[in-house]
Amino acid sequence: DYALYTAKQQRCGRAIIFSHDHETRIRETSRIEQALRHSNLGNEMWVAFQPIRDLENARTIGYEALARWQSPTLGAIDPDVFIPIAEHAHQIGRLTEILLTKALKTAASWPEPFCISFNLSALDLVSRETMESVRQIVVASGVLPERIEFEVTETAVMRDFDLASEAIARLRQLGMRIALDDFGTGFSSLSHVHRLKPDKIKIDRSFVRDIEVNAASRDIIRTIIDMSRNLGLACVVEGVETEAQLSILRSLGCHLIQGYLFGRPMNEAAVNQHIAAGARLPGRRAYPPKVGS
Ligand code: C2E
Ligand code: MG
Ligand code: MG
Ligand code: MG
Repeated sequence: DYALYTAKQQRCGRAIIFSHDHETRIRETSRIEQALRHSNLGNEMWVAFQPIRDLENARTIGYEALARWQSPTLGAIDPDVFIPIAEHAHQIGRLTEILLTKALKTAASWPEPFCISFNLSALDLVSRETMESVRQIVVASGVLPERIEFEVTETAVMRDFDLASEAIARLRQLGMRIALDDFGTGFSSLSHVHRLKPDKIKIDRSFVRDIEVNAASRDIIRTIIDMSRNLGLACVVEGVETEAQLSILRSLGCHLIQGYLFGRPMNEAAVNQHIAAGARLPGRRAYPPKVGS
């Protein structure tokens, strides 16, 4: 019963593999690991796209690419489950290459200036080999670097700050953007923001969940939004599900929103339809064009 795998520990926005039985859990983890190693991942992995919306003009500015795995033997498995296992099994580089290739293939057909956001794992950032593949995949895709954003978490960067920040700087040199994902969880630090110079901050959805009843969550969101504005960074709030949450977020000065309220992650056909059905021609770009690009 693979419902097991999708059980998430909602607190902290972190996922764990949930099982009452430690041995079962280890066995299932190893089955997933085996499947990852031996599957034709190019066929079994696909990418879902979730819209990111600008509240000022009520338009979609881009989409986040989210990994989906439909295993013929194990069924559908959540990325919160298989990504950590892929990292542990040294399969993440291969997975990143497959997913990025697919995501950019879809994004290549979108009209300008829709952006595509892609999540990089900690291990990707510290692997020179993977980062070189990433560069090659971007070049081969034909998608303009200024339309590509990579999402990284601070936790990822902390594994080897120097190597990771070097990789990030290199991506930025190539004209791509960096978003600090899941901001506010883990060891959020102003020094990370200062040293990594991201273009965008994504506020973790754990703060949005109780925004209506928890003044502290509202204060945290307001503080991060204000900080982003003062530093000249874009800021996205993730996980917005209700109109009530949206209206509070507006009052806190929020401009960019991602969440089920405006769209669930969609397959390629659905996202292309989403674009055709009205998201087309956003009023302004997600970012101003970079000087020299
Ligand atoms: P993330 O990058 O923070 O992605 C946002 C997650 O929040 C996605 O879960 C998305 O489906 C979910 N979400 C968005 N709006 C809402 C909402 O309104 N309500 C709720 N309850 N959830 C919402 P998903 O797709 O399960 O991905 C989970 C995590 O797995 C991602 O978190 C990211 O850390 C990782 N991940 C996903 N795809 C990739 C990938 O291609 N590569 C890597 N390295 N990690 C990935
Ligand atoms: Mg993300
Ligand atoms: Mg996030
Ligand atoms: Mg996450």
